[in-house]
Amino acid sequence: MDTSLPNPKKSSITPETKFEPSGYSYIVLCTNDDYSKPPVVYRGDRVIEHFFEDMAIEEEYINDILGEPEPLIMNDEAEQAFQLTTNCEVCQTLFDENVIKVRDHAHHGITRDPRKKDYTNYRLALCQRCNLSLKEPSYIPVLFHNDKPISCIPNNMEKYVSLTIGNRRFLDTCQFLNSSLDTLVKNLSQEGPTHFRQFKKAFPSEDIAKLLLRKNEYCYDYVDCEERLQERQLPSKEAFHNRLTDEPISEIRIIITLLKFGIP
Ligand SMILES: [Zn+2]
Repeated sequence: MDTSLPNPKKSSITPETKFEPSGYSYIVLCTNDDYSKPPVVYRGDRVIEHFFEDMAIEEEYINDILGEPEPLIMNDEAEQAFQLTTNCEVCQTLFDENVIKVRDHAHHGITRDPRKKDYTNYRLALCQRCNLSLKEPSYIPVLFHNDKPISCIPNNMEKYVSLTIGNRRFLDTCQFLNSSLDTLVKNLSQEGPTHFRQFKKAFPSEDIAKLLLRKNEYCYDYVDCEERLQERQLPSKEAFHNRLTDEPISEIRIIITLLKFGIP
């Protein structure tokens, strides 16, 4: 029988490491930034239970917003743009007596611009068919990036990984952006922090942002209890030894880590 286990007749070593979550961080984002919230960071005990309790609270907050959609609000500028549009702005079909032109609007509003007096939530001039297909999903997407599928979410034939709890659908972005978080951040940060709108809000200092827009060293084996997270200085070089790969951190990576955190 084929098995991935080592042959018991031959001597072998299988590295084993048990990972336990020590905390989490998330951010609630809305297409209308007025409803977005600052990032939440938690570390402590009962991490998994705490996380799902937090998710239930956020679901209530979001359901309240979804339950009260904004009616269409036009201003002169938007009305003029609508009147002048001759083709559907999605499928490009020419409007006529059979292809009816309708006003598409953001049901949860558009981020208010304090410099503008007239508010509008109008978005596009569309044909009825495109307007219907642009309907927003009724569930709340909870996005996470998991390089290796987690065991509680089965990876089915379509390679579409999701789990639904209440009105929340947990979706693995690795299925759509198939690279490590490190690579994705590296690619996106080539033009500086321009594309990191929410990140910049949380870390306005450019010096700090530069340090955080890349994968940093972490001493996974060393952090084995909550108290380790309270320490105010970096641990010894030995603490960065990775038991899983049996790899010590190189001198150069230690120097970079120390410099980044301002330690001489
Ligand atoms: Zn259309």
